[in-house]
Amino acid sequence: MASLVSMTEKYYEDGLKILEDITINAREIQEKVLEDILRRNAGTEYLKGFLNGQIDKQLFKKNVPIVTYEDIKPYMDRIANGEPSNILLAEPITGFFRSTGTSGGQAKLIPSTAEYIFEKFALFLTLTASVVKKHVDGFEHGKRMYFLFGKPEIETPSGLMARSISTSYIKSINFAKALSENHTNPIETVLCPDSKQGMYCQLLAGLIHRDEVVSIGSFFVSTVVRAIKFLEDHWKELCFNIETGQISDWVNDSGCRNSLSSILKPDRNLADFIEKLCCSKSWEGIIRKLWPKTKFIDAIATGAMSQYVTALDFYSGELPVVSPMYASSEALFGINLEPLNKPSDVSYTFLPNMAYFEFIPIEKEEDIEPVDLVNVKPGQCYEVVVTTSSGLYRYRVGDILMATGFHNNAPQFQFVERKNVILSIDADKTSEADLIKAVEEAKALLDPVGLLLTGFSSYADTSSIPGHYVVFWELKMKEGDDVKELDPETMVKCCSIMEESLNYIYKVYRKENAIAALEIRVVKHGTFDALMDYFVSQGASMNQYKAPSCIKTKEAVEILNSRVIGKFFSQKTF
Ligand code: AMP
Repeated sequence: MASLVSMTEKYYEDGLKILEDITINAREIQEKVLEDILRRNAGTEYLKGFLNGQIDKQLFKKNVPIVTYEDIKPYMDRIANGEPSNILLAEPITGFFRSTGTSGGQAKLIPSTAEYIFEKFALFLTLTASVVKKHVDGFEHGKRMYFLFGKPEIETPSGLMARSISTSYIKSINFAKALSENHTNPIETVLCPDSKQGMYCQLLAGLIHRDEVVSIGSFFVSTVVRAIKFLEDHWKELCFNIETGQISDWVNDSGCRNSLSSILKPDRNLADFIEKLCCSKSWEGIIRKLWPKTKFIDAIATGAMSQYVTALDFYSGELPVVSPMYASSEALFGINLEPLNKPSDVSYTFLPNMAYFEFIPIEKEEDIEPVDLVNVKPGQCYEVVVTTSSGLYRYRVGDILMATGFHNNAPQFQFVERKNVILSIDADKTSEADLIKAVEEAKALLDPVGLLLTGFSSYADTSSIPGHYVVFWELKMKEGDDVKELDPETMVKCCSIMEESLNYIYKVYRKENAIAALEIRVVKHGTFDALMDYFVSQGASMNQYKAPSCIKTKEAVEILNSRVIGKFFSQKTF
């Protein structure tokens, strides 16, 4: 993401100065941000209901409730259905961002405004790039191979478009300009509606420019790993295209074909060279070999993405991974001021000019008062709450962060976890409630064949790429204990029903093959007792023991895997 801006030397310097300035004046800036939001939005129906038109920061904290998406969804629905957006926000609305955060299985709609995408987001990227440039020598020279895919948009009944924040940015003029200046991938390959063709052509362009590539990235590391896996499956064909100077016939998107035709020339030497590297038995360090000038990988590698770092290190030959920023559709939070730190050590410094931030300490007792940005305590975990000029007032984002220190007066946080999310392969987020609902729906098929589900758990298996959801089921015959035979047809159907029940984002990623088919592993009788024994041996209370709906440790996964008696995969097509 650091790579999406093109700037002169002066811009980088100015970026660092702005960063110092805003982090020194964090307290004052936060006060001003809130005042400004209240002044502009006090007349909205939503705020009037709590503040009666007053612009008073104390009253705001006293009267405006802390909310989740479910609380404000009626407002989003009203705007999506054609009511004026000023019921919620004063700034004109340009459409909606479709956030990947789970909300009862639906993607959330968050108002998008020109200010957010053109001012705040653009500044955020400028500051991020300034920091990376300070730490990575020669970062601004050469080309970036940055995998991006415009996602489908939907039109709401009001005619407003709902798209992901990345697609919104991709569609902006600034982005197209930056891309053409210093990226290997032509804009047409990014905008291609078919992500397989887009991926193929972005790799082809990256291979053609292999000697110029200085960084390889995407928003998230999962996409970079997926791209290398795609290369493993398609390198022969890519080499053939390079040798002949002809792009494969199945690539029929005219934008992709036209943009590639201007750079694809028959080059036997290049094709032979790539082929020799790809033929090698081990792909360890393949990224360094294919793109020898690459200085770093540029992609978010914290939170759910940390599960890909080992695979990435293998392919990249341990190139530095720069996890540049922490951002969402709801608000832009912070950037990584030490981009060469290992992902596990990364903290993000919050930028006080992006939104008004509050933090709810994660404590055992309920009703803990939130604290302001400058008052967080290092070592303490918090749930982040934002107030923005895009119509979110004291809104719980659902992310849990740990304060780790300060840069000047702006706090730094490590990303701990997404609240309530238990399974995630890519940008999909499946909550415990989503999973339970999916299991409930699937297990209805068991009753007619005389089976009972006696226990279930799950984990995100990323040992192969793309990763997939594994759901462990312990079954019992309604008559008798041990399951003798399983009907494959029924079990495969159960897998498909579970997938059908999962949310929209999961299905989009399945369609793109960024997530592989869901798997049910049936475990033998007594497995969940063995799991409980294990957790109790590790100190869990027998009285309060609840079988976890998702398994996080290797040892526990091993207990389940060693007792598998049947594996079934969904055959659902998306
Ligand atoms: P979305 O709402 O679809 O834009 O996704 C934003 C969410 O992605 C955030 O609320 C986080 O849960 C996650 N996310 C974004 N940046 C990071 C990061 N640097 N590390 C970990 N998780 C992140």
